[in-house]
Amino acid sequence: MIIVLKPRTSERDIDRIVKRIRKFGLQPYVSKGKERTVIPVIGDERVLENVPFLSFPFVEKVMPILAPFKMVSREFHPKNTVVQARSLSVGGRKLAVIAGPCSVENREMVVKIARAVKKLGATGLRGGAFKPRTSPYSFQGLGEEGLRCLVAAREATGLAVVTEVIDTRHVELVARYADVLQVGARNMQNFELLKEVGKSGHPVLLKRGMSATIKEYLQAAEYVVHEGNDQVILCERGIRSGVEDYTRNTFDLVAISVLKELTHLPVMADPSHATGKWRYIEPASLAAVAAGADGIIVEVHLKPEEALSDGEQSILPGKFGSLMKSLRKVARAVGRTV
Ligand code: PEP
Ligand code: MN
Repeated sequence: MIIVLKPRTSERDIDRIVKRIRKFGLQPYVSKGKERTVIPVIGDERVLENVPFLSFPFVEKVMPILAPFKMVSREFHPKNTVVQARSLSVGGRKLAVIAGPCSVENREMVVKIARAVKKLGATGLRGGAFKPRTSPYSFQGLGEEGLRCLVAAREATGLAVVTEVIDTRHVELVARYADVLQVGARNMQNFELLKEVGKSGHPVLLKRGMSATIKEYLQAAEYVVHEGNDQVILCERGIRSGVEDYTRNTFDLVAISVLKELTHLPVMADPSHATGKWRYIEPASLAAVAAGADGIIVEVHLKPEEALSDGEQSILPGKFGSLMKSLRKVARAVGRTV
């Protein structure tokens, strides 16, 4: 960290700040220039995170050097983390493809979709049993019955089950059925939930909050890893740009490349929620893989027009098949397989 003082700061004030820094076991190096005094501080500056240096009237600015996350950073752990859950492997050379309905609506539909996507090359099955809906009048999910349906689909296909947990009180229940616990965009900063899924030791798919910066996103992932659980998959699912409303969200494609640079955790893309329209799922998926994504999570439905949630962004199995074909070509071009 570098602390910049205001012009004409007195020796007494410089001494006050130096003492404060030393109290935390760090080494300040006071450097007096013609106009300004700057104090570079050597040591792990994260211990100073809660010191409000700017409340000293003679401090002009504080410039952190280290990222506010540690365990998820590539500096801390240079090699890629590979998250493994049954049929699903995310972060290796082979791309992960998680497909399935937005919501589990009944057993028959989820088993049928699972069979169809498995045949076409999916490596994981998605489907929400507990749904975080914007309106309290919208379908809220089947709850535990939905989890049972997902298990039936896993038994029929061998596909690993990825499903959302929206409440700390449900973590144990959902972990009993699911292979991967999804924390959705709306809960990315639900810190108690992050701690709880961290403690569960279960693989976690943590979606980016719709208004979260990359830094905030990685700090959220740090919560999970801090609990001793490094099995965390990140997922860019579109952000609120505040400008564009033609698509449901704005797909932050370059965030995928940035995340791959900053963290060792695998990064997926969700082209369904990122675009909100089925016709853009294929181009968004191909672009994500070209940008370095470790896979995609995509919504598939047998009758999108009858879906209880997100029908307009769900693709038919046939379209999923052609998406897989195109994905293979892009994967090959960037040295990956599907
Ligand atoms: C979902 O995957 O169904 C979902 C609700 O996604 P998000 O949290 O990204 O909106
Ligand atoms: Mn959805």
